[in-house]
Amino acid sequence: MTTTRETGAPAATGRPLPVPDETSAPYWEAAAEHRLVLARCSACTAFVILPDQLCPHCHSTAPGFAFEPVSGRGRVRSWTTVRQAFLPGFERLVPFVLVDVELAEQEELRMVGRLLDGPDAPVRLGAGVRVAFEDVAPGVAVPAFVLDGAA
Ligand SMILES: [Zn+2]
Repeated sequence: MTTTRETGAPAATGRPLPVPDETSAPYWEAAAEHRLVLARCSACTAFVILPDQLCPHCHSTAPGFAFEPVSGRGRVRSWTTVRQAFLPGFERLVPFVLVDVELAEQEELRMVGRLLDGPDAPVRLGAGVRVAFEDVAPGVAVPAFVLDGAA
């Protein structure tokens, strides 16, 4: 397999790869193992998607965040069908459905990801989904979702 030197993206997908920083590294390390973890505020225990200097829930200024596993289950709050690839590597994937999911752990804890059930998936408001992972490069996986019939 050849790789693109500039981006490190594998020729197989050509998709841009996540660039973990100090804050997000635990998230991407877990994703590579197909586990979904989210940062949790040590002051109020709320989960947050992108830990900041300030907890958006309790406004604690130095809360400290620890990553904890979450169920990966949630409900579709909105969705869109992407028909044109705006990023390299997505040309072969369009059309695909992008879902905005409220995770079961907490109200308004929302993640956006690709729905892997195909462009004609019977997605609807409130549909149950669970996390799935797309392996986009060796050791790199990106969270996505699939419809969860059991939900
Ligand atoms: Zn907090």
